[in-house]
Amino acid sequence: MIIIPTRLCNTNSCSYCWVHKKDFNVKYFDNFNLEDFYEKMFFISNNLSDFNLRFFGWEPFLRFDVIKEIILYFKQKSDKFNFTINTNLTLLDEQKLDFIKENKIKLIISCNWNLKTHSKTRWIWISETLKLYKNIRKILNFRIPHQINVVVNNENALDLEKNLIFINKKLFGENINLLPVSYNWWTEIGLVNFEKSLNIISEKIKSWKLKINFINKQINNDVSLFNSEFVVDSDWKIYPSTAILEIFFIKEKEKILISDLSKNLDEIKKDLSSWEEENHKIYSLFINKVLKNKFSNIIENDQNSSLIFHNFLEKI
Ligand code: SF4
Repeated sequence: MIIIPTRLCNTNSCSYCWVHKKDFNVKYFDNFNLEDFYEKMFFISNNLSDFNLRFFGWEPFLRFDVIKEIILYFKQKSDKFNFTINTNLTLLDEQKLDFIKENKIKLIISCNWNLKTHSKTRWIWISETLKLYKNIRKILNFRIPHQINVVVNNENALDLEKNLIFINKKLFGENINLLPVSYNWWTEIGLVNFEKSLNIISEKIKSWKLKINFINKQINNDVSLFNSEFVVDSDWKIYPSTAILEIFFIKEKEKILISDLSKNLDEIKKDLSSWEEENHKIYSLFINKVLKNKFSNIIENDQNSSLIFHNFLEKI
């Protein structure tokens, strides 16, 4: 299950980021009773037998106070739970690091390769990128479970091999989730470069020159880029997909609402009792339809990059 503890981001800068930032001034979690939240979340997790809690955003480290309380509550209730935080890692400090170590929290980090490429695709200062590298080395040094999400687009596709070597050999990152950009326009030359780079990388992996574990091999989403998973938004409404975070989905999100944690527990139970696994598929079809209407030509083009990437994953 995914929890969105904030709709704020400390950088607000990534060139490909579509997350809805219009209500960025609202501090949602401050308006609710956290005890009430814990109780209901605990019920839902057990009801769904979902014991993986992932904090996602915008930038979750901005509400580390909320994350901390939730994790401590769940740990004290049961030892079944695992915790993950998606973060741009620029706000890591010693206190957060200690808490992450102590509670064996997995970190999913975004890093778009070397200095030039990362700073360019994320539009952040070079000093911020250098801080990110330092923090990545630090968490890997402490053997904190990790996944590094890396975005590939037209601009950096040709540098893919070089950039992957950088993450692997200089930052010591091994668990990579490669994200060919979606809902952006892949050019013909971008696709050629992408395929060329992946061919070189697959040779290096086969000959053990690169030791990389591509997380993509374990992830299978019905909608490109988005997870079909219960998402508790920062206003405590529950939805079936991370697509609800995107700006182009704002008008549609109420149509896929599952429940609302501000209801009483009996009403939530009722909402959940009618939920079936099959519903994820139905909602995925709906999300795909919305995306198709919005990005019809682009989606066809995206399929070429997905196909190239899929072939690569089959080969390695
Ligand atoms: S991708 Fe994440 S770090 Fe970048 S602007 Fe969007 S929310 Fe912020």
